Amino acid sequence: MKIKNNSILVQVSIVVSGFIFSSIIAWSLYNIEEKSIITEFHKDVNEQADLLYNEVSINLETLHSLSILFNSKNIAEFKQFRMEAKRILSRHRDIQALEWIPRVKHEQRDAYISKQKKEFPQFEITEQKKQKHMIKAKEREEYFPVYYIEPLRGNEVAFGFDLSSSPKRLSALKKSMDSATPQATGSISLLQGNTKQKGFLAFLPIYKDNPTTVEKRRENLKGFVLGVFRIDDIFNSSSSNNKLLGIETTLIDETFYSKKDVLHIHKFQDKSISHKKISYKKKLPKIWGRQWSLIASPSQKYIAIKRSILPWVILFIGTFFALFIASYIRIMAKRTILVEEMVTKKTKELNKANKKLKKLSLTDSLTGIANRRHMNDFLSKEWRQAIRDKSSISFILIDIDFFKLYNDNYGHVEGDKCLKKVASRLKTIVNRPSDLVARYGGEEFAIVMANTKNTNTIAQQCRQAIEKLQITHEFSKISDVVTISIGYSTIFPTNETDSNTIIKSADKALYRAKKSGRNIEIEAEI
Ligand code: GH3
Ligand code: MG
Ligand code: MG
Repeated sequence: MKIKNNSILVQVSIVVSGFIFSSIIAWSLYNIEEKSIITEFHKDVNEQADLLYNEVSINLETLHSLSILFNSKNIAEFKQFRMEAKRILSRHRDIQALEWIPRVKHEQRDAYISKQKKEFPQFEITEQKKQKHMIKAKEREEYFPVYYIEPLRGNEVAFGFDLSSSPKRLSALKKSMDSATPQATGSISLLQGNTKQKGFLAFLPIYKDNPTTVEKRRENLKGFVLGVFRIDDIFNSSSSNNKLLGIETTLIDETFYSKKDVLHIHKFQDKSISHKKISYKKKLPKIWGRQWSLIASPSQKYIAIKRSILPWVILFIGTFFALFIASYIRIMAKRTILVEEMVTKKTKELNKANKKLKKLSLTDSLTGIANRRHMNDFLSKEWRQAIRDKSSISFILIDIDFFKLYNDNYGHVEGDKCLKKVASRLKTIVNRPSDLVARYGGEEFAIVMANTKNTNTIAQQCRQAIEKLQITHEFSKISDVVTISIGYSTIFPTNETDSNTIIKSADKALYRAKKSGRNIEIEAEI
């Protein structure tokens, strides 16, 4: 039972530890895999940021090529402007419009308007009242109207619009003018077009000569070459087809830390759920005064697709292996228990058989009482014990009278029956556990008794008992029934004597009993 319990404990602990061990490996693998997926995700976002930056740069570069028309000496005519702008626009689809924004002092306002009215009778320097509703610009010291614009179609509302009427635009213009650097604005809702997408403006200041101080720049400014760029389109042109599958990105303008300006949101194409825990922000290099960043998070599907089943396989194999070992141990334990049970059973059987065999080897087969060998062993043992106890041993030797005649006349079978009867009767007389009745030889019996005072009485009882059995023996020369002669001896054994002494002594007494006429018990002489 204990073995069984122990083996169950071992099996359970093997399965549990196998499961735990493989879980740990699977979990570590799962984490390593996740890390590499996140690295891959960062790589995808970085790549997208690079592509976006390149796309923006290429777009902004167009303003430089357009600015050649407005160098320090010349101001191009509308026609020339349109030709060059058309060429640029045909190659850059993300540009909503290219414009020339001259600096118009108030006193020049009418002249500028009337010049343009020749070709565009509706032309006016305007500002925005509400949403797309344009009105004639209020009087100001100077204006920055959209004077040339390409394409005009679709951008009519912006034609003539005074940029200085919009604080956001004006501050960018001034910054550009003072620093003599190209500037881009934050996101603006585009005046033109029907799309809701956001755009930004970027402009290059054009000066007379090459002014080096802020004052000179303010004085010498001629105007700006301006581009209107559609952010969504720029973003989409920059996205490589599959890179952003499963990645949600938000493009923000964080030039001013206080205010985050969302320029573009790229959502998942499908209905994936965003993995909010994993988010990554990549800053783009600063360009035209703007600091843009991409904030990206992958969809759960993006992560799931890139995962392998290896951790699960390891968990499964590990657990299966532990189960296999446990089952193997279980089978082996069962087999051991079975073998043990079998061995115990066989040992019991063997002990039983041995006992039986031993009993048989010590028993006389005919009479069922102890045989001579048993008697010898018993006598030797009792002899040694008596030496230690300083007590006596009695030995009674019995011989059936004229048994040869009995045998010869009644036959062997009858002889055997007679022997059995005599043995059984003797056994009933001597029945203390310390006494032994044995068949000594053919028709001779012996009785060994330890520490017995009345040996003579017992000898007499034996002789009388056999006579009383009344086994007919008409061929006996001394009686009509079977009789016995007895010689007996009682000795206090010493280390100098052995058990044969008492046998010889009793035998002599028996001899004398025979001689003296039989059917008599005689004690040995000492
Ligand atoms: P005495 O009175 O002097 O002892 O004469 P006896 O005939 O008994 O003695 P003897 O030694 O001459 O004969 C013993 C006989 O016992 C011989 C044999 O036939 C018989 N005998 C011995 N063993 C067995 C046995 O196992 N079965 C039978 N039926 N007879 C046996
Ligand atoms: Mg004899
Ligand atoms: Mg005899």
